[in-house]
Amino acid sequence: MSADTNREVFFELMPKVNYFYSPDFGGYYYGAGHPMRPFRMSLVHELVVSYGLHRHLNIYEPRPASVRDMTAFHADEYIKFIREATPETYQSPTCKDHLRRFGINDECPIFSGLYDFCATACGASIGAAAQLASKDAEICINFMGGYHHAKISEASGFCYCNDIVLAILELLKAYERVLYIDIDIHHGDGVEEAFYTSDRVMTLSFHKYGDQFFPGTGARDDIGRGDGRGFAVNFPFTDGVRDDMYLGCFKPVIDNVLKYFKPSAIVMQCGADSLANDRLGSFNLTLNGHGECVRYIRDTGLPLLVLGGGGYTLRNVARCWTYETAVLCRHAVSEEIPFNRHYEYYSPHYLLNILPTNMLDRNTAVELTKETQRIVDQLKRIGCPGAGYESIGADISKTVSLWRLKGEEEEDEKVDEDQETRKLHRKEEEEEE
Ligand SMILES: [Zn+2]
Repeated sequence: MSADTNREVFFELMPKVNYFYSPDFGGYYYGAGHPMRPFRMSLVHELVVSYGLHRHLNIYEPRPASVRDMTAFHADEYIKFIREATPETYQSPTCKDHLRRFGINDECPIFSGLYDFCATACGASIGAAAQLASKDAEICINFMGGYHHAKISEASGFCYCNDIVLAILELLKAYERVLYIDIDIHHGDGVEEAFYTSDRVMTLSFHKYGDQFFPGTGARDDIGRGDGRGFAVNFPFTDGVRDDMYLGCFKPVIDNVLKYFKPSAIVMQCGADSLANDRLGSFNLTLNGHGECVRYIRDTGLPLLVLGGGGYTLRNVARCWTYETAVLCRHAVSEEIPFNRHYEYYSPHYLLNILPTNMLDRNTAVELTKETQRIVDQLKRIGCPGAGYESIGADISKTVSLWRLKGEEEEDEKVDEDQETRKLHRKEEEEEE
């Protein structure tokens, strides 16, 4: 065997992992006391770099999404509002109706730079999807994205623009069937709603359900409608679920989704609020359990877009997404957190893992086994998909169930049509400067 052959084998074993990051992203601020802190992205990136993981990634700075990009899903008037609104609009009594209509409130406030924040998150997810669609990458990571609650013309649950729906629409231009997996503690309602009548997108959400937990959707009986019947899958847990029980459900469900749905690409929302000790969550997962879900999906070998999502205990969000970056680029990381600019966040132990708490697990093995079986039965009933997909990407609009009717022509935007994202740098080069 020649040296060249060896090299090819080596590259085959090393997947191409593209990572999207904008250095400005950590500077956005929802307001004092708000649990969503975009600053967590700075912690994540700092930890990724301090572990040396940037050497195993291609790092891209995203091109911001244009108005046209965002209105591929969102209503024109909603994006126009998000674009023009300022913190002053938020305070103005004359704008009350607009604010209510578009879901703007203390949970989803208008903060300085809101539109740019949304355009960056969406631009990264769309750009990543475009790379996967053109086979420029096998795995793409965008922890700045994952806003699964945003609706066509409504902000919800700290989410304004649904980068996930936009990314899936991009993938559908090239792939027959897209699987969406959501391991955030909250139900992925915005994505489910968008594709509720489609059999080309399966939405699979593992979440807490009951006790009026936000957003209140994601019941086991919500399985899709029309052509999409059976293609929305919901796994409801209750408080305190631990790694072994969670994985005992996750893995057989995934196995059966792969068997019956046969996805051609996967989008995974990795909300870190399902971890133990989250400020808003009430699950009891550790890094091992959460990360094992990511590893299991990585090992399907399908084109994969990994996104962020919730996560309100900042130090654990950084631990989680850094560890999962390591999993995705198949690089081992030490338990000791390397010294970095935000080292004090990892006090007092300065270790990577997240330990489970002593909270009560209100899930029972019997209930979870029953739930898993119910889902396997649902999947068996969807039969064999794939027949009749004549022209992939010909009219994506038919895929979105709540597709708006465009009354007016697009705004006369100076839209930058260039879909390519600009390769920013490898951190190594930056360090050499
Ligand atoms: Zn969440």
